[in-house]
Amino acid sequence: MNIPFPLHSIPIQSFRYSALQSVETDILRLDQVHPVVSGNKWFKLQVYLQNAIRQHKQGILSFGGAWSNHLVALAFAAREAGLASRGIVRGEEGVKLSDALAEARSYGMELVFVSREAYRDPQILQNDPSLLPPEWLVVPEGGRGPEGIAGAETILSLVPDLAAYTHICCAVGTGTMLTGICNAALPLQEIIGISSLKGNDLLSASVRRGLHDTNRNFRILFDFHFGGYAKHPPELISFMNKLYAATSIPTDIVYTAKMLYGVDKLIRKDNFKKGSRLLLIHSGGLQGNRSLMPGELIF
Ligand SMILES: *Cc1c(COP(=O)(O)O)cnc(C)c1O
Repeated sequence: MNIPFPLHSIPIQSFRYSALQSVETDILRLDQVHPVVSGNKWFKLQVYLQNAIRQHKQGILSFGGAWSNHLVALAFAAREAGLASRGIVRGEEGVKLSDALAEARSYGMELVFVSREAYRDPQILQNDPSLLPPEWLVVPEGGRGPEGIAGAETILSLVPDLAAYTHICCAVGTGTMLTGICNAALPLQEIIGISSLKGNDLLSASVRRGLHDTNRNFRILFDFHFGGYAKHPPELISFMNKLYAATSIPTDIVYTAKMLYGVDKLIRKDNFKKGSRLLLIHSGGLQGNRSLMPGELIF
């Protein structure tokens, strides 16, 4: 693997919290991979970066909204790999850049703002070489796609005792990470994804298309999105603070808090047989908490 910058070693932390006491729960702390390229974003990007280097591309570009962790990670990783980077951003440029976009720009990413209509229309994007230059490598939004899945498959290689787990649980946005986890998991392990977005029938179908073994079982639960993407009512914030006080595990409002909350609820509902051992994937994303008011979180 051609890592353009050093990764920190990634701990697996055992923890017990409220209902989480009745089954064994360990969490893979991908949030500690790297201070900037934290969490699953690095894993989803690595194959794209390798391809860009191998194919001598001038630069690498991708797409995202104003709060895109993906663009920040890409900007940093591209700079470390000696590649130019460009972010095509959904919506007009506001008076003030979001924290995420300001950070991406500070790593040298060129930001190009396009209207929501143009962003959604591949014809408009593809026909404008000033947006998508041919000699650049294009990474789909969120790092989805076969290369993103292949990168996510390497996540479980960080777990020395993988066979010890009966279940693996992770957060779901595009489902790219979940697909990679399904492909790398052992045959009898049950894979549970907790969606950060409201129910979407297309999501399970798109995960299935990326599976090596089309019979592989997985579940995506849509019961824990708290009203939708990035919605974070007081109940979620309070859960995050209690979890942190009990375990020192920080979570983010968009993905990992909802995943842990969902797993906690599943355990309370006796979803897991006695003797189950759960591996939870902490996929990072903590910078998303910057949109909260100071003091809302205790970490
Ligand atoms: C982007 C992200 C996800 C979602 O990953 P997908 O591969 O799009 O499903 C989950 N957790 C965190 C922290 C993320 O930043």
